[in-house]
Amino acid sequence: MALHNTKDVEVVNLSSLYQSPPVDGSKQPDYINAVCEVKTHLTALELLYVCQEIETKQHRVREKKWGARTIDLDIILYGVQVLVSKKLIIPHPEMMNRAFVLVPLAELEDDLKVPVLGPIQDLILELGEFELTKL
Ligand code: ADP
Ligand code: MG
Repeated sequence: MALHNTKDVEVVNLSSLYQSPPVDGSKQPDYINAVCEVKTHLTALELLYVCQEIETKQHRVREKKWGARTIDLDIILYGVQVLVSKKLIIPHPEMMNRAFVLVPLAELEDDLKVPVLGPIQDLILELGEFELTKL
């Protein structure tokens, strides 16, 4: 995994992969998502730059080899830190609406208290019904 090969970042936990249909109900292929926990001395903003570098590299490789593919590597949480800036919002502003974020996150830590938003299990209940397949 690209993040793990970054010298400043150590992946210490990784959820299962989860498959879900595109949010907008379009005819795109399903998405595959997972959540990982990392250890790093980087600041949240530095970590975002690392993620964006990986995105850029993988876009390039995939476009040549297989045609259009995308990767999206977001920061969901950074410990208990709450951050709102132009480039970075933590907790991730869409996390509470996304089963494909909340469910894998709960797999890593089922009693997690999300800063500002509350217990992860409550957030999952508040989603109502969702379509998500653990692979
Ligand atoms: P999206 O993730 O919404 O599909 P992008 O990956 O292109 O789209 O991200 C758009 C912008 O979101 C990035 O340029 C980044 O500055 C900003 N952003 C704000 N908060 C976060 C976060 N927690 N994780 C990742 N990107 C974030
Ligand atoms: Mg993103």
